[in-house]
Amino acid sequence: MSQLRSIKGTHDILPEHSNKWQDLEKIIHETCKRSGYREIRTPIFEDTRVFSRGVGEDSDIVSKEMYSWEDRDGTSLTLRPELTASVVRSYIQHNLGILSPIQRMYYMGPLFRRERPQKGRQRQFNQFGIEAFGSENPELDAEVISIAWNILEGYDLGEISTLQLNSIGSTECRNNYKEALKDFLRPNLNQLSDTSKNRFETNPLRILDTKSENERRLLEKAPLISDYYTDEDRAHFDSLQQFLSVMNISFIINPKLVRGLDYYSRTVFEFTSSALGSQDALLGGGRYDRLVEMLGGKPTPAIGFAAGIERFLIARESLGETIRPLNNNAYFVCLGEAGIPDVLSLSNTLRKAKINVVSDPLRRSLKSQMREANKSGSRFAIILGTNEIENKTLVIKDLKKGEQKIILQSDLTKFFKDLTS
Ligand code: AMP
Repeated sequence: MSQLRSIKGTHDILPEHSNKWQDLEKIIHETCKRSGYREIRTPIFEDTRVFSRGVGEDSDIVSKEMYSWEDRDGTSLTLRPELTASVVRSYIQHNLGILSPIQRMYYMGPLFRRERPQKGRQRQFNQFGIEAFGSENPELDAEVISIAWNILEGYDLGEISTLQLNSIGSTECRNNYKEALKDFLRPNLNQLSDTSKNRFETNPLRILDTKSENERRLLEKAPLISDYYTDEDRAHFDSLQQFLSVMNISFIINPKLVRGLDYYSRTVFEFTSSALGSQDALLGGGRYDRLVEMLGGKPTPAIGFAAGIERFLIARESLGETIRPLNNNAYFVCLGEAGIPDVLSLSNTLRKAKINVVSDPLRRSLKSQMREANKSGSRFAIILGTNEIENKTLVIKDLKKGEQKIILQSDLTKFFKDLTS
């Protein structure tokens, strides 16, 4: 039979790497909680309409990347391709807006998009992100961006990432700008790619997102959205910049930065890193004041971001991070079957005292068990042989210093506790 393998674009996170995931996850949990954000966990699959309405029918995600299927009762279901729409669905369903005028949430988990796999782009990948509901004021934008910044710094990526910032104004501003952009592009329509020609009709702002060098050159002379801001748009963006500056958060303004989806307004931002190669986006976010209403809730301003966990790990690896061995306190070496009950009960006692200990279930020779103890990254080997069983003692070997001593079995927990006190 041919060997079964994971599906293209999906990856196993092997035990030797999961430590790194947990390190990052810890920073995310701690940083979010420090600013009053609490975790929300929504289902992995949803009614397809959550995404077709919440992300937009003509977005790449909905039009070509979703894993959707018809359930037995005929309902169309979809593996979540992003989390904002799910969080908003949940916010409306549970009336979270009436619990408190401001709701702050963060999330973490797997997403599914049928994209062409390459480095940093997978079909199942993981994101963390935050969503803050209930204020249209720029201090909330500054708070959300500062959390992204603090997580990047906490994970040592501050130096190798850049914050790009833009405002795409209010609906009024964007409608005027779209016309101006179309007027600018119309004489050159035949030079545009098929994708951009389609976007010209459906969502001309997204043409600014193009990766094509030709189109980028053409766009150099395009009108800028900033010339179409309303007074309120400008004041909002100016305040945000001032707030970021007082928090020592440096940014560059990228007037061509737009987020693909229709519902964004005003603030959009992205953190990129040169450590990533062609898929250089670490994190993207923006204000989405219309989305709650579009999904059937009361009009509620909101802002959030989503970040790719795999890309954080890739960027961090570029700093020369090596695989961290399992950091056990002790490895229990047992010589002879008679000692097995003692090893099991003593190990259990240690674990209850929060001491990490691994024992050997293969009944191997002293030499093999000591080799395993060294390989496991344990600081100590606890050795139980015939003499020790008789005398109710243990040999404790410090694997770093090479020293060893004999202690009473009844003093085992104390021995480890004294080390940490
Ligand atoms: P988006 O939801 O498309 O705005 O993406 C937010 C972040 O998720 C990006 O900045 C990437 O870091 C990450 N990301 C998006 N798509 C993928 C993918 N297919 N594979 C891995 N990471 C991704």
